[in-house]
Amino acid sequence: MKMMTSNLNLYYGEQQALYDVSLEIPQNCVVALIGPSGCGKSTFLRTLNRMNDLIGGVRIDGRIELDAVNIYAEDTDLVTLRKRVGMVFQRPNPFPLSIYENVIYGCRVHGLKDKKRLDEIVERSLRRAALWDEVKDRLQAPAMGMSGGQQQRLCIARVLAVEPEVLLMDEPCSALDPISTMKIEELVQELKQAYTIVMVTHNMQQAARVSDYTAFFLNGKLIEHDVTDTIFTNP
Ligand code: ADP
Ligand code: ADP
Repeated sequence: MKMMTSNLNLYYGEQQALYDVSLEIPQNCVVALIGPSGCGKSTFLRTLNRMNDLIGGVRIDGRIELDAVNIYAEDTDLVTLRKRVGMVFQRPNPFPLSIYENVIYGCRVHGLKDKKRLDEIVERSLRRAALWDEVKDRLQAPAMGMSGGQQQRLCIARVLAVEPEVLLMDEPCSALDPISTMKIEELVQELKQAYTIVMVTHNMQQAARVSDYTAFFLNGKLIEHDVTDTIFTNP
């Protein structure tokens, strides 16, 4: 899997939010998108699986490629794209369903019905999201009864269940307490073995702790991008 943007510009109506952003996303890394509030981090993240298309008045030029294919091409299948490039949001957003049904939600959308297969996916996804041991005895319990940190790991499991290649995370810890944040950070470190992770964070310490590569945005422009150690040791 190879993902890159070249000369990407994005406009919300008259207002330009991204200017000429070219970035090759390194694989099997955690890539942190940092910069002050309003600099375009979330906007950039959302263009990577075309979430911005849901908003009226958004115009994009430039290219975003996934394995050398332009994801903004006319014939792009958005369901497949969002399966390959999954998104975890700032606030945990489980559906008002059981833990089990939350995990396999995407699989059902994709038409999977075999009970044994679904059971396997639930266990595998919850294990990968470091949640299995905590919930294995209450898979039919409502997801809304879980703690915030558990809900966020459930949302990660839900994305992992459909076997994505890239995981987009928009400030996944900012609604969580410090212990839950630490658990998610540890999880992100483990997941990068198997997935490429692009994570927005306003927290510089978090970027330094968990990311391998850092892209720094300012006023809609990509100002600097390099391996995280270099970014954080340079004056
Ligand atoms: P960040 O994630 O760095 O805080 P955003 O990507 O959310 O920045 O916002 C970048 C700019 O685009 C801001 O000026 C913001 O107000 C504007 N913006 C974000 N989303 C929308 C939207 N849906 N419609 C119009 N303007 C938006
Ligand atoms: P964040 O910076 O954490 O992404 P914001 O408070 O900037 O959050 O934005 C929250 C939501 O409002 C986002 O979905 C964003 O797209 C939308 N938004 C932000 N700025 C604007 C704007 N100027 N006009 C319309 N929608 C906006």
